[in-house]
Amino acid sequence: MPTTQQLQKQLDWEKKKTAFAWSKYYQEQEDRWATEHAQYTQLRQSATTDTSGLDPHLANLIKDLYEKAKIKVECPICLETIDDKETLFTGKCGHNYHKDCIQQWADMADTPAQGKKCPTCRKKY
Ligand SMILES: [Zn+2]
Ligand SMILES: [Zn+2]
Repeated sequence: MPTTQQLQKQLDWEKKKTAFAWSKYYQEQEDRWATEHAQYTQLRQSATTDTSGLDPHLANLIKDLYEKAKIKVECPICLETIDDKETLFTGKCGHNYHKDCIQQWADMADTPAQGKKCPTCRKKY
């Protein structure tokens, strides 16, 4: 039978492995997020140039559509689209999450201070 010390050692190791898997996962998410952000920026720039010279009614319509499309962002934790402003949480760093997902993230953290760090950029949110 393993001793308490051996069990504790194994538990620590499992914890480390899990932490490593999470950090790897978030690094991948971060890269993906950067690409998406670049696409959004591009869309925004093209939308702005595209509306110049257009009928003002049409230009406003495009602007409206664009504003609506802008809030269609993906939550890096559950990978679902955040399409409702009510469920959107935006950190001080500018990263977006579902309110429930970021709450779960905070609950899962080892320490409260860790739970208050953005899973994407690790700044305080
Ligand atoms: Zn989510
Ligand atoms: Zn962040």
